[in-house]
Amino acid sequence: MILQDSEFGEVIVRRSTWCKNPKFSVSTSGRLSMSVPAHTSEFLAKRWLNASRRQIRDKLPINDPRTQRARDAQKKILTKKARDYLPYRLEFWAHKYGYRYSNLRLSHANTRWGSRSSSGTISLNIGLMKVPEALRDYVILHELAHINHMDHSPEFWAEVGAHDPNYKRHRQLLKQYKPGF
Ligand SMILES: [Zn+2]
Repeated sequence: MILQDSEFGEVIVRRSTWCKNPKFSVSTSGRLSMSVPAHTSEFLAKRWLNASRRQIRDKLPINDPRTQRARDAQKKILTKKARDYLPYRLEFWAHKYGYRYSNLRLSHANTRWGSRSSSGTISLNIGLMKVPEALRDYVILHELAHINHMDHSPEFWAEVGAHDPNYKRHRQLLKQYKPGF
């Protein structure tokens, strides 16, 4: 079970037969997890969490819960920015070069900046709002070029290059950034 906590973000709750008293630990991703006795209800787990706040704060490396909170907050801000910006930017380039796509989906994937499905939907990662505009435009032009070329053939790259002459450099620079949180 996962609890949403305003201070610690997502808290993973594990029920265990051997557990007599709740125990708290931090995963490498900075998430708080909590072991509780089997059959513990969500209500009781929340009560334990509330009663242990001070102990958790003292015990945990100070940055971990904050990092999780910071990431959650950043995700919210980026989602809003992405909603306000990416549909217009995609439309701008599509209109300029005569591309047609059916739909834009904003994604939170950890591994890719964008994709294009065979149904014509273009997905763009909200993390694009963290990268310089030239690299963001490269990703958009890359996905638009997939409308005409499903693969990464020389013809595909020629089309990307026609719209973004510096695409090789942009592609390289983009590797310094990670789409996830
Ligand atoms: Zn591609």
